[in-house]
Amino acid sequence: MSQATESDVREDGIIESVSGPVVTARDLDARMNDVVYVGSEGLMGEVIEIEGNITTIQVYEETSGVSPGEPVEGTGAPLSVDLGPGMLDAIYDGVQRPLDVLEEKMNSAYLDRGVDAPGIDLEKTWEFEPTVEAGDTVEAGDIVGTVPETPSIDHKVMVPPDYEGGEVTSAESGNFTVTEPVVELDNGEEIQMRQEWPVRTQRPANEKETPTEPLISGQRVLDGLFPIAKGGTAAIPGPFGSGKTVTQHQLAKWADADIVVYVGCGERGNEMTEVIEDFPELEDPITGNALMDRTCLIANTSNMPVAARESCVYTGITIAEYFRDMGYDVALMADSTSRWAEAMREISSRLEEMPGEEGYPAYLSARLSEFYERAGYFQNINDTEGSVSVIGAVSPPGGDFSEPVTQNTLRIVKTFWALDADLAERRHFPSINWNESYSLYRDQLDPWFVENVRNDWPETRQWAIDVLDEEAELQEIVQLVGKDALPEDQQLTLEIARYLREAWLQQNAFHDVDTYCEPEKTYRIMDVIQSYNEAAFEALEAGVPVEEITDIDAAPRINRIGVQEDYNEYVDQLEEDIKSQLREKY
Ligand code: ADP
Repeated sequence: MSQATESDVREDGIIESVSGPVVTARDLDARMNDVVYVGSEGLMGEVIEIEGNITTIQVYEETSGVSPGEPVEGTGAPLSVDLGPGMLDAIYDGVQRPLDVLEEKMNSAYLDRGVDAPGIDLEKTWEFEPTVEAGDTVEAGDIVGTVPETPSIDHKVMVPPDYEGGEVTSAESGNFTVTEPVVELDNGEEIQMRQEWPVRTQRPANEKETPTEPLISGQRVLDGLFPIAKGGTAAIPGPFGSGKTVTQHQLAKWADADIVVYVGCGERGNEMTEVIEDFPELEDPITGNALMDRTCLIANTSNMPVAARESCVYTGITIAEYFRDMGYDVALMADSTSRWAEAMREISSRLEEMPGEEGYPAYLSARLSEFYERAGYFQNINDTEGSVSVIGAVSPPGGDFSEPVTQNTLRIVKTFWALDADLAERRHFPSINWNESYSLYRDQLDPWFVENVRNDWPETRQWAIDVLDEEAELQEIVQLVGKDALPEDQQLTLEIARYLREAWLQQNAFHDVDTYCEPEKTYRIMDVIQSYNEAAFEALEAGVPVEEITDIDAAPRINRIGVQEDYNEYVDQLEEDIKSQLREKY
């Protein structure tokens, strides 16, 4: 978080009242969304309402002990983040204070109040290599050089979007701190590796384009049935024990995003601790480097005050946009947006606003959509293309999807991955319910799958969907009358559907090979089940009893494709064996 400089400091106000995270101050000279320092400890807060000479502030730190009469100091600046090399591998709190720096400053893991720390290290030097030279003309947003930030990611240093731009007068390679000028322009503008950006303002772009590329996750149920686009939005509700953590880890590890921004927003303290402990241990399976080399973690546990949940969501999306501007594909995961919504509810009730549904403020839906709106596939102002994909976890109380946060989120996002506690209980993982989930990107991503995987990807997938739908209907009958009462063709369909569930939809995150499934393999598994289906129905028509068809030796081998490294040979052989074993029956 940027610290306000001395010259910015405005006239002090006086605290009038304190109600949890909401503080009112008298006679403060401030504007909406300005950052202020509250009380003698200087707690960070943000102006959320101004009426006459009374200013209402939400405070991002614990306010106990703060009393009326203490001073409030304005900074004249909106809540902003520091952007520059050093954000990857970092773990921040909700107002971009690096947790390790805070711990050091206070000599304990308990975050004290009123401690400020810049979002990026101001003393550390980085090796800057310019990509422009004296005489070149640069505009706002242009890339002027690179810094090898981590073994996985080159940081692109850009002209800040609010600069005018001009002719480069000097551009030096060498080691610099983030505040030293690395490129100078003829109009006097100096470009540093660090920029600041107000978190509530979307970073500008030339154009938001219709996303046409999938964010491949290597998870069959997602890529195969419910794909999200690069630049798309998804919601994932996670009842306890349904595999939310594993799914998120899988996405962070395998999604083909260059950068992952993980916003842990007020989940139960211990869960966030788990993330803080787990993530630094994870390996990036693609590069072999640490996963944190391309990850930025923002961790706001429930022990921190509610107001900070909001700032961590905005901090996260701003950091994501900054990497998007470099031409990277960024995946932002927010866990959980329900906790943020609850924070809005609490602040709103302390402001005595008119409550909407279930006590949430009437602007809940507007806030959520403002946030998801910042996702997209963009043509940046420097003409690179980059994307921000947003995956928001939702925690509906009791798994009830009819509650306001889930409902409002569903109206906004285009992909819905419904984690299902029943499936998890039956050990069907990932426990994404294929009847309730959906993706509105399917059609627009089909051309990509046709071009990059197989021509008949859409048809094969549709066949799988139809079989699964039919299974759902047949299951209702089976529950009433039992499987044996069904005609043979329907019994066969149930068997085919079982393979689709067990061999295709299920995937073991903990198996070295099965943990990631490339789209080609996803295709081949569904395709071999489809050819089993065709051959099986031919045999049935030729009079072979259904038990004999489902009993062939080869069939159970379908369930082992997922764990095969050289799956192509395995599937070729399997397909042949299935056909010949069935052919022998008639
Ligand atoms: P939650 O975070 O929703 O409480 P977890 O993600 O911790 O649940 O998952 C609970 C357990 O379910 C895990 O410890 C693991 O045994 C199992 N599990 C979840 N997802 C998978 C998966 N994709 N593959 C294998 N096992 C899984």
